[in-house]
Amino acid sequence: MFSLLRTIVQEVNAARNLEQALEIIVRRVKENLGVDVCSIYLSNTETRELLLMASDGLNPESVGQVRLSWEQGLVGLVAERAEPVNLDNAPDHPRYLYFPETGEERYHAFLGVPVIHHRKVLGVLVVQQHAETRFDEDTVTVLVTIGAQLAGAIAHAEAIGSLEGLQTEQRVDSRPLQGLPGASGVAIGTAVVVAPFADIDAIPDRKVEDVVAEQERFLSAVGQVRDEVREMMDRMNGALPSADTALFDAYLMMLDSDSLVGDTLERIRAGNWAPGALRDTVTEHVRAFDAMEDAYLKERVEDVRDLGRRILYRMQQEGKQDDDDREYPRGTVLIGEEITASMLAEVPPERIAGVVSVRGSRTSHTAILARAMGIPAVMGVTDLPVSRVDRCTVIADGYSGRVYVNPSEAVSLEYIRLQREEAELSQGLLSYRELLSETTDGIRVPLYANTGLVSDIRPSLNSGAEGVGLYRTEFPFMVRERFPGEEEQRQVYRQVLEAFAPRPVTMRTLDVGGDKALPYFPIQEDNPFLGWRGIRITLDHPEIFLAQLRAMMKANVGLDNLALLLPMISSLGELDEAMQLIRRAHAELLEEGEAVTLPRVGVMVEVPSTVFQADSIAERVDFLSIGTNDLTQYLLAVDRNNGRVADLFDSLHPAVLKALVCTVEAAHRHGKPVSVCGEMAGDPAGAALLVGMGVDSLSMSASSLLRIKWVVRSLSMGRSRELLDQALRLERPEQVRAMLNAALEEAGLGGLVRAGK
Ligand code: PEP
Ligand code: MG
Repeated sequence: MFSLLRTIVQEVNAARNLEQALEIIVRRVKENLGVDVCSIYLSNTETRELLLMASDGLNPESVGQVRLSWEQGLVGLVAERAEPVNLDNAPDHPRYLYFPETGEERYHAFLGVPVIHHRKVLGVLVVQQHAETRFDEDTVTVLVTIGAQLAGAIAHAEAIGSLEGLQTEQRVDSRPLQGLPGASGVAIGTAVVVAPFADIDAIPDRKVEDVVAEQERFLSAVGQVRDEVREMMDRMNGALPSADTALFDAYLMMLDSDSLVGDTLERIRAGNWAPGALRDTVTEHVRAFDAMEDAYLKERVEDVRDLGRRILYRMQQEGKQDDDDREYPRGTVLIGEEITASMLAEVPPERIAGVVSVRGSRTSHTAILARAMGIPAVMGVTDLPVSRVDRCTVIADGYSGRVYVNPSEAVSLEYIRLQREEAELSQGLLSYRELLSETTDGIRVPLYANTGLVSDIRPSLNSGAEGVGLYRTEFPFMVRERFPGEEEQRQVYRQVLEAFAPRPVTMRTLDVGGDKALPYFPIQEDNPFLGWRGIRITLDHPEIFLAQLRAMMKANVGLDNLALLLPMISSLGELDEAMQLIRRAHAELLEEGEAVTLPRVGVMVEVPSTVFQADSIAERVDFLSIGTNDLTQYLLAVDRNNGRVADLFDSLHPAVLKALVCTVEAAHRHGKPVSVCGEMAGDPAGAALLVGMGVDSLSMSASSLLRIKWVVRSLSMGRSRELLDQALRLERPEQVRAMLNAALEEAGLGGLVRAGK
């Protein structure tokens, strides 16, 4: 059963289009369950109509012809109820509807199961038998499992189907792919699919013009890998028994074989570029080996993949020297399974128009980075067939999370209009730069910038930020190949402190772990967000922590605009230890003759335990800063990066709002200021509530700053409090969001919560 499922899912994922995917499913299920008929009906969720899309057993002419509504027939009954229907004699059932073109009068037993993806019925999978006996329990559960497993694959194949216009060059008004808003704005441009180095599965298809040159490129990479294997062989000879070095012989044989090399050359001749052709060849071999019973041959799967990765790596190394013009056209929309900070950094800033990522959500660090750079981003587009969209025209709507591939002219024109309106809105907001951030009744709510890249110092200054509310020090750590030394860090921090002086800069100590990995400090954990992260790492490695604290304090000499912020504190013990180390670093620097001062220290409230101990924390430190990204993640038990549960992640959840109110009250009881530096501060609806709570300052990406200033300046404190009161009486996040969006629209701020003015 397990291997049947695995084979089907693999084959379906490798299918070239929806029809082929569905044919594979019906054939495999019929074969393996030993039934007389297997068919698939797909549903149009809007019209609630089902269409027979593939069948092995019914008359082939009926495929594409039989159409019925959810209210009709047994298949409709399965879709309507979203539950299996299992009958020994279908014609006896009152809902039985006979379609003469199918020839199904011969079949009696009927079992239909729904195919459900993200709570929507995508279709119905049906098996039928001549015999008049109900399908047994095992068959029902197997079919239900197949239906559940295939839902994602079918959605994926459907998405490919809707992209078919790509091949025919005709612009089809395809359904948009749905993802999650990552960074606001609208991007219109050319898709450039990027893959992690040597990740063969993530390679997209790409048309090749010069077939001969492409074949040579491939053969040269094969030659280099052959040399590499020979070198390995020489090194190992003598060190290993000859039986073990036989592996290298096998590698060399594969590298000379017609199946690996010849097949790839053939695919290049058919028009695909070398990496895409290699991917198809490797996938085919892997599938063939995987299907073998022989354990030894099964093992070869890894060898083939390894060779594929090596050849790909060589080609990518060569490609690295390629001219930027070819790699990243103007208006690049970067697309990938997972877009990393370094992938973003590789595109010349003037060429990047947007980011679309299959994984991640609004609070992933990639989205945060995109926002810092002012680039629209859509995250968690799980059904995006990445390998098929390279170089297509795409529109990414960072407000609604919609992505259009090869949009029709009507859709393009509409988005061009919205983009123009956006630009007008941003232009109009520039006049807010010099204005104070205060409510209409004169209450000041200073706005600070979140930064982390040296390159966003300028945009932050230009946005009129009153300082830096959160400087994420992990970014300078991420772009290096080892831990930066004390002096190296001092210089980076000095640049930031100097650029903003005399305005305050709050620097957070290293917060790696979770989804922020350092390439030179890998951490393998089952639950990284609940694991070794932030202050937990730096307390375990005082040498790293102290070097950072010393660098920060030294950078602050003569400027005195530094504040320290401690991430991921979950208990008072951690805070006390961290404070001790801060005092120690300060004392030691004084002893060394440095003219350092003890900076103000704050704690990030981002773990729920700190909400309930906010009083004790506020007593010990100078200020609190609420990290709504992690606080929401931990309070609601929703992974901030997991697209599958992203619709459950909402900082406007009433439970989160109550936690925020609690924290603000605790801080103020001790006369300490509290700011919010999570993404909620840059969300117009969120900001309106935070002002109502009495939060003392807000910190956000520079690209959101003027928009939020517009919100602050459009509402009175009284009105914000009213909105907060109303929100606290509601029970669900979507009610809170709808109420606030309506209030913003009413206040003339609608352009902030949707595309357009
Ligand atoms: C937060 O958790 O809200 C926060 C600001 O920190 P980060 O997003 O870097 O985890
Ligand atoms: Mg955090």
